[in-house]
Amino acid sequence: MKIGIKASLICGIVLCSLSKRADAQSMAFSRKIVDTLCSPYFWGRGYTHSGMQKAAVYLADVFKQQGLVPLNEQGYFQYFSYSTNTFPDKLSVTLNHKKLVPGKDFLVMAESSGLKGTFSLSPKDSLSFVHAKDPLLIVEKVRKLTWSPSEKVQPYTRIQVLDTNATLLPKKISINIRNHWIPDFKAANVAAMVKGTLYPDSFLVITAHYDHLGGMGKDVYFPGANDNASGVAMMLNLAQYYARHPQACSIVFIAFAGEEIGLKGSKYFTEQPLIPLERIKFLLNTDLAGTGSEGITVVNATEFPQAFALLQAINTESHLFSKVHSRGKAANSDHYFFTEKGVPAFFIYTQGGIAAYHDIYDRAATLPLDHQEQLFQLIVRFFKAL
Ligand SMILES: [Zn+2]
Repeated sequence: MKIGIKASLICGIVLCSLSKRADAQSMAFSRKIVDTLCSPYFWGRGYTHSGMQKAAVYLADVFKQQGLVPLNEQGYFQYFSYSTNTFPDKLSVTLNHKKLVPGKDFLVMAESSGLKGTFSLSPKDSLSFVHAKDPLLIVEKVRKLTWSPSEKVQPYTRIQVLDTNATLLPKKISINIRNHWIPDFKAANVAAMVKGTLYPDSFLVITAHYDHLGGMGKDVYFPGANDNASGVAMMLNLAQYYARHPQACSIVFIAFAGEEIGLKGSKYFTEQPLIPLERIKFLLNTDLAGTGSEGITVVNATEFPQAFALLQAINTESHLFSKVHSRGKAANSDHYFFTEKGVPAFFIYTQGGIAAYHDIYDRAATLPLDHQEQLFQLIVRFFKAL
């Protein structure tokens, strides 16, 4: 008994120091990935400056360096295409004689047509102001600027203007905006795996979208640190771990493109799967993995109650997150089309810490990234228990 305690104590100390060293390594690794993906070179991993394509090449390189094999016989990429509206040129907005700063004071909403000229505005309701004649121009006052990409171009121009203290009365606007619609934007999912030692045809899958919103105009891009450089960092951490510790079944890693414009990459994958979907034992999607001080939420928890109970038990036993919230089905990230095809899947997102979301403030420098190790432990232990 005494020896047992002593042995487990020594063992505990060794394990603890090993895991501390691993913590430091994986934290530094995550930070490096997030900093890299949020740098101007990748321009928000979207539709201008070839941001998304550059990010795909970068991720394939990392998978290759880690020693993962491509999921596709032709390589790490799975190509597909869709349409998207972009604003690659310099754009300007002057409202009531004040020049507004793109990203900080205003956003041109992604479905907008280009427009140039000076227009008078009249109130439509308390929050929107219009130039109702041709061309249709809509100016919306908001408490927080929030952007999302669009596949389509509408026959109007819509501008969000920040109005934190609700004092703004838009009357006159001068704008110069040009849009460029791309009918066949070429995107690629990046997919790789660590082959199973006993059951290579059974799969556990980890997914994270690497695309974000890209940029708006010449000077502004959306870094997307929490959404979803953080999830990609988590996925690459796990890829690194499993490359060194192969499991009985294969572990698959998919970095999806086109999530922000409507789950394009994951939908395409479920329609043209590179592995049989019925051989996926479980899929874990991470999106918004950069915080965690207020716990995590598990989408599909109510769909797979046994697996959720297991996840909760692991969390409690290992003292990882303060809370594990349960949520039902939701079409809010890349797990969705897999669930629809009968694949057991969770989507985990972290909570607390930051308010930035789909704006220029979702930056690497202000992302806590303080619970990556906890999430890493939770996923590794969960997969092991499965
Ligand atoms: Zn996201």
